[in-house]
Amino acid sequence: MTLLRIEALSKSFDGVKAVDDVSFSLEAGELLALIGPNGAGKSTCFNMINGQLKPTSGSIRFDDQELAGKRPRDIWRAGVGRTFQIAATFNSMTVLENVQMALLSFERRVFNFLGRIDSWRKEEALALLELVGMAEHAHRSCAVLAYGDVKRVELAIALANRPKLLLMDEPTAGMAPEERNALMALTARLAKDQKIGVLFTEHSMDVVFGYADRLIVLARGRLIAQGNAETIRNDARVREVYLGGVR
Ligand code: ADP
Ligand code: MG
Repeated sequence: MTLLRIEALSKSFDGVKAVDDVSFSLEAGELLALIGPNGAGKSTCFNMINGQLKPTSGSIRFDDQELAGKRPRDIWRAGVGRTFQIAATFNSMTVLENVQMALLSFERRVFNFLGRIDSWRKEEALALLELVGMAEHAHRSCAVLAYGDVKRVELAIALANRPKLLLMDEPTAGMAPEERNALMALTARLAKDQKIGVLFTEHSMDVVFGYADRLIVLARGRLIAQGNAETIRNDARVREVYLGGVR
């Protein structure tokens, strides 16, 4: 099932085309990697899909709705989650409390009662932490977590919103190779199990080729190639503008 269909998406900043006539689609349960050199327009693409940026033109069909130009909150409500959205309070709460907050927020409750969060959706929050392998850290403060573990909590927080589409812009930045692989393996498993479509950017080609079902390549705002790892590895244009010596 096609979950996301991007058509002729463009974004200009002061007349400069950061994203230029890009079209692609993403299926439920699919891990799609968006790769390309720095400045290629990857983050701009992400930010149009999540509503942080308004497209100059083009369409973003998601689950039979048009998302182009909608507000971030409405897009989030429609079922588009993203990691890297740590709340300012993240470090002042425990792992469990953070996930409980995310569940609360999913239920669109007004939470001005931090003191009483204790009992709220505890089982559900623990189940989410179990899913990402963080249940045993539930009662630790987020401030003391290792970097890779913070990423797992972020994933649990994103899942609390029951996303159909998960956007991950450089999810493994700053992680050691082993942690990268662990996080992507976990993401891939969750995507398959829960039929979540995942769009991610990533600099490590090992990770991209290891986990992406399909790749799309941007260069100077244009989509220059798409296909599976094999196709992309052997694409002359991609090798020229991006992969260089990577085999
Ligand atoms: P990537 O994520 O692939 O590195 P970006 O999407 O961040 O690329 O950037 C694409 C191009 O758009 C770059 O040339 C960048 O300088 C420009 N750009 C991105 N955001 C803005 C902005 N808010 N204002 C002006 N130019 C921007
Ligand atoms: Mg970027």
